[in-house]
Amino acid sequence: MNRQQELDKLNSENFFDILIIGGGATGLGCAVDAASRGYKTVLLEKHDFSKGTSSRSTKLVHGGVRYLAQGNVHLVREALLERGRLLRNAPHVCHTMSFVLPVYKWWHRFYYGFGLWMYEFLSGRLSLGRTRLLSKQETLEHLPDLSEQNLCGGILYFDGQFDDSRLAVNIAQTAVNHGAVIVNHCSVYDFIKEGKKLTGVKARDEISGKEFTILAKIIINATGVFADSLLQLAENHAEQTISPSQGIHLVIEKHFFGGTSALMIPKTDDGRVIFTIPWHDKLIIGTTDTPVDQIEEEPKPHQEEINFLIRHFNRYTTSRISYSDIRSVYVGLRPLAKHGAATNTSVLPRDHVIKVLPSGLVHVTGGKWTTYRSMAEKTVDISVQSAGLPFYPSKTKNLRIHASPDSVQDGYLSVYGTDSSAIEKLIKDHNLLSEKVHPRYPYTKAEVKWFIENEMAITLDDIMARRLRLLFLDAEAAIEAAPGVATLLATCNGRSEEWRLHQIEQFNQLAKGYLCSTLSHF
Ligand SMILES: Cc1cc2nc3c(=O)[nH]c(=O)nc-3n(C[C@H](O)[C@H](O)[C@H](O)COP(=O)(O)OP(=O)(O)OC[C@H]3O[C@@H](n4cnc5c(N)ncnc54)[C@H](O)[C@@H]3O)c2cc1C
Repeated sequence: MNRQQELDKLNSENFFDILIIGGGATGLGCAVDAASRGYKTVLLEKHDFSKGTSSRSTKLVHGGVRYLAQGNVHLVREALLERGRLLRNAPHVCHTMSFVLPVYKWWHRFYYGFGLWMYEFLSGRLSLGRTRLLSKQETLEHLPDLSEQNLCGGILYFDGQFDDSRLAVNIAQTAVNHGAVIVNHCSVYDFIKEGKKLTGVKARDEISGKEFTILAKIIINATGVFADSLLQLAENHAEQTISPSQGIHLVIEKHFFGGTSALMIPKTDDGRVIFTIPWHDKLIIGTTDTPVDQIEEEPKPHQEEINFLIRHFNRYTTSRISYSDIRSVYVGLRPLAKHGAATNTSVLPRDHVIKVLPSGLVHVTGGKWTTYRSMAEKTVDISVQSAGLPFYPSKTKNLRIHASPDSVQDGYLSVYGTDSSAIEKLIKDHNLLSEKVHPRYPYTKAEVKWFIENEMAITLDDIMARRLRLLFLDAEAAIEAAPGVATLLATCNGRSEEWRLHQIEQFNQLAKGYLCSTLSHF
């Protein structure tokens, strides 16, 4: 996948069947679905693939145990089926993980046990493993650093885990492989109309400044929390459709909570579910659900949210973590569909909304990463019907995602799937590329070169945050690695020293927002 080639396609062709705005899970899912059915498809992303909410998830491919407790059986059943499909179609970036829910009152074993048994039952043939009750001893074998005070036992269940932004890149590659034109760092800033109906968009290449006029039979707005500003442009109305809520995650070293299973805390002080999950050799603790007024591209954690997660982690474990143990804190905004005047966003449904608006714009929002494929299928069905295009059925249920291997290898390069052999070859053939980008981490310059040449990585942020994930794992290490990575980026793209220094400065500024120690608003 090469950005210049995609731009060349856009220069030679400006009329498409389906145009998608937004390169998060929703938009990318629509692009693969539409292109694999044979529609002429283009997707434009303002920043980088999954720069918005889609790189900031809790990394669960799940049905949502919490939604079952809310009685939303249909939503859970659909998500569990999608979970199974995702694990099958992208096994290099998604895998099964065991979760343990500890219980501190004897009757909770049966209460939560029944709920989690139902959860497994609903997944039918796509079950990832048997839910079962654990004794106190067995619970501690799974979670050796769990606090023993009043512990009665636990419940073991299975769910999926993934690398969200790596999956996003691979979905973009899948779409390109099926003929879609996909461009990142290209924003839509206006619509073209005939009367009140939309016929196209005006877009800007944010790297060169070049402007494009692109026409399409139907336009899909998949801009997540940012959807309202495009809706206002298209429809000339001021109604808000999104009720944003932020969720933060703390990333700490793995030794604070040993074992290979994840911990699920079913009821926090404010009645939420939180997790402690092993991920890329670190632990993620999350998440929160805080209604916010501002929709920012780099949302900031609130101090109370950090304290809340630290407090709960320390309460349930024998470890005692504090601010200085946090390697990175990342924040995502939920694009929850607005339902009346609800103020408690944790009770708003996570189901999606698909609407065809009077201008002809197809507006899709809400949902979960896990259900991106089914959401995309429904969105494309509705779009095709609305545009009067010939109907071809979706093919994505069994469509393998780019780099999907027959069997997953061991080692950290396994996340690249079948692309890992090309990266290994770069490491073997070029001494310089075998160098690590940071002494504490296994990542090499070969991967960086791969991202630049094959995954449309344009900026330091694209590489550090969404290709290597170092910003999410260890913000300080990412800042330390930035100058070396920027040199390679500038060399590969023929950029000046001034450009390189500007990239480093911009990235350092951004990365400080992921460091607890430098968050200026505390
Ligand atoms: C804290 C948190 C934890 C979550 N955890 C999970 C989880 O564990 N599992 C799960 O299944 N789901 C999870 N979710 C839900 C899931 O992450 C989201 O539903 C999903 O990522 C939303 O994707 P999206 O494509 O709709 O939005 P986004 O990812 O935000 O994508 C929208 C894109 O549109 C682009 N854009 C905006 N304006 C323009 C424009 N003018 N032109 C071009 N592009 C534009 C943006 O740059 C952005 O990249 C979580 C959500 C949050 C907030």
